[in-house]
Amino acid sequence: MIYSLGSINADHVYRLLHLPTPGETLAADTCTRMLGGKGANQSIAAVRAGACVVHIGALGPDGNWMRDALADAGVDVTHVTEAGTASGHAIVMVDASGENTIVIHPGANRALNPSQIEVALRDARPGDWLLMQNETNCQGEAARIARSQGLQVAYSAAPFDMDAVRAVMPFVSLLILNAVEDAQLLQEMSVVDVPMRLVTRGAKGAEWVDEKSGKAVFVPAFRVPAIETTGAGDCFAGYAVAGLATGFAPAQALRRASAAAALQVQRPGASEAIPTAAEVDAFLN
Ligand code: ADP
Repeated sequence: MIYSLGSINADHVYRLLHLPTPGETLAADTCTRMLGGKGANQSIAAVRAGACVVHIGALGPDGNWMRDALADAGVDVTHVTEAGTASGHAIVMVDASGENTIVIHPGANRALNPSQIEVALRDARPGDWLLMQNETNCQGEAARIARSQGLQVAYSAAPFDMDAVRAVMPFVSLLILNAVEDAQLLQEMSVVDVPMRLVTRGAKGAEWVDEKSGKAVFVPAFRVPAIETTGAGDCFAGYAVAGLATGFAPAQALRRASAAAALQVQRPGASEAIPTAAEVDAFLN
């Protein structure tokens, strides 16, 4: 079982020929609204990878369609509560080359309370995983409770926030960073004291470091014609943690995550572009 503490956003995606420069007003070619948020994307990736996922999060009174979309994808939404503030949302602008800029308003994602986390994790068992990132509040409490119950804690330190990293680091089993976040972290600390670290490096691939054994594995990315890389890291993180939680060895879990992300970047969108385990198997065979 994976308990996924994470953001749920309404992504408003505007497609334009080029991104606006400061002071410029542009009309978008298309505008769509879809389920997003790093947490929701990671939960959907983990479910499509074959894991059982309980999402822990919050939505506003305007967020029922997002709760339904998560549930339709197979995520347990029992612990997605309703907060007295509007749901989180993101304004995503994508240009003709697939480059994007994103503004996020956290809204209800930052309205979680520790008692909600306690209730959600009450039935968790040793060997289950807690997966989280930095788009909600309560990560510190969640990590502490999870560890005290024998869960493994996977933490994607995005968007990067050194204070948040310091608060959860003592409880983290697997730290997940992209290349930029890894560089930011190494600027702050010379020794990263976590059992396992996973650094994704875009089209180059990903690096897995087991701090205990000192063993590092590099998993190259698949060479594919990428059209949009939004959410590639979330797809990778969800697949990697699901792989570990469902019993794959790290190298195999990472290969599957790399294949899933390679399929995801060839499709438009974020969560809806995440492939199923069957699609990943077909790609790898
Ligand atoms: P983030 O989206 O968090 O910045 P990355 O850009 O590092 O994360 O991408 C995560 C993973 O997605 C990479 O490790 C790689 O496996 C895959 N990926 C990203 N971009 C490409 C690409 N252009 N081609 C193939 N795989 C990619």
